[in-house]
Amino acid sequence: LNRRLAEFGTTIFAEMSALALSTGAINLGQGFPDTDGPEEIREAAVRALRDGLGNQYPPGPGVPELRAAITAHQQRRYGLSYDPDTEVLVTAGATEAIAAALLALVEPGDEVIAFEPYYDSYAACIAMAGGRRVPVTLHADVEEGRFRLDLDELRDAVTDRTRLLLINTPHNPTGTVLTREELAAIAELAVERDLLVVTDEVYEHLVFDDAEHVPLATFPGMRERTITISSSGKTFSFTGWKVGWITGAPELVTAVRSAKQYLTYVSAGPFQYAVAEALSLPESYFTDFRADMLAKRNLLAAGLEEAGFRVFRPSGTYFITTDIRPLGEPDGFAFCRSLPERAGVVAIPNAVFYDHREEGAPFVRFAFCKRTGVLEEAAKRLEAAL
Ligand code: PMP
Ligand code: GLN
Repeated sequence: LNRRLAEFGTTIFAEMSALALSTGAINLGQGFPDTDGPEEIREAAVRALRDGLGNQYPPGPGVPELRAAITAHQQRRYGLSYDPDTEVLVTAGATEAIAAALLALVEPGDEVIAFEPYYDSYAACIAMAGGRRVPVTLHADVEEGRFRLDLDELRDAVTDRTRLLLINTPHNPTGTVLTREELAAIAELAVERDLLVVTDEVYEHLVFDDAEHVPLATFPGMRERTITISSSGKTFSFTGWKVGWITGAPELVTAVRSAKQYLTYVSAGPFQYAVAEALSLPESYFTDFRADMLAKRNLLAAGLEEAGFRVFRPSGTYFITTDIRPLGEPDGFAFCRSLPERAGVVAIPNAVFYDHREEGAPFVRFAFCKRTGVLEEAAKRLEAAL
């Protein structure tokens, strides 16, 4: 590995999923559903394959049907209007969107601000782009029961070298959904300091209780400086299809497309037709999906509390971050390495998502995008073992 990537070996998700396989433990580590997305959408993919739709290189920006479905979704849901020909790009999952956006927009030495704990690919992609990551920590607020952004710390992190804010809401791994007020303050800062914004909103459809997902691009002055990222992996439970997308102003989308051309050239064709149909599903699909995940959140949160964890009940995503100190455990790494043997359950130590590892040390993440019986069994095992 070269110097830029030396600190990034195997991802924690691969390491922990391998541990789940070798120990036979229940895998609540890596975030992927154990139930595939809608049957009719799988059928749509099969149909596309059979009918020869997308079996050869599809168009660089994505197939027209999918770009039209993406812009219709943004319009219908958020009142955001994008031109499917110039303001949309289909990518190989949100992962490629993040990589291509950073490679396209960051100059070597530019500072990129990201919330800590950050999704693991952010740090690696900032490094690949030659940027310098500047973490702004979401601090655990026990009274509010959530991880909170300190707007003063964010403002203080901006320097003359800051090029870009890399935002994620709903936030993996903490489950924090930024409020309208927080987003408005971020938007004001971006405009005032003339920053680009890349906002990862892959969990846009997974918000609970009275939380609301508001795209950053809807705030004044933001549409022209913001790349918004989403993915069919999360919303439709097809993480293996790797169909993601970005929306944004034409110059930004064109720049990201230039980088994408030399990463993957295009994204897998037949799945794009199926995702176009998925985005056009009736509203009931989205409400049912959210209700199902909410029930799972409540089930796992109750089980973890029963087992002695301090639970930060997430307002969004399909992850629960816990504090393990009430169990007499100070160190999430050691805890997660021993948990499969001790309890037959795999979880992720949040410390890997921090530069300030000591701040992240006591936090451990559990995924709840699993069948009810699996979550019940995991909760039972944790209660028995801890
Ligand atoms: N961003 C976040 C915050 C995620 O949680 C994930 C999925 N783990 C991704 C991006 C990557 O999405 P995809 O699988 O579409 O590449
Ligand atoms: N996004 C998933 C998670 O946070 C994992 C995706 C991956 O393994 N790259 O668990």
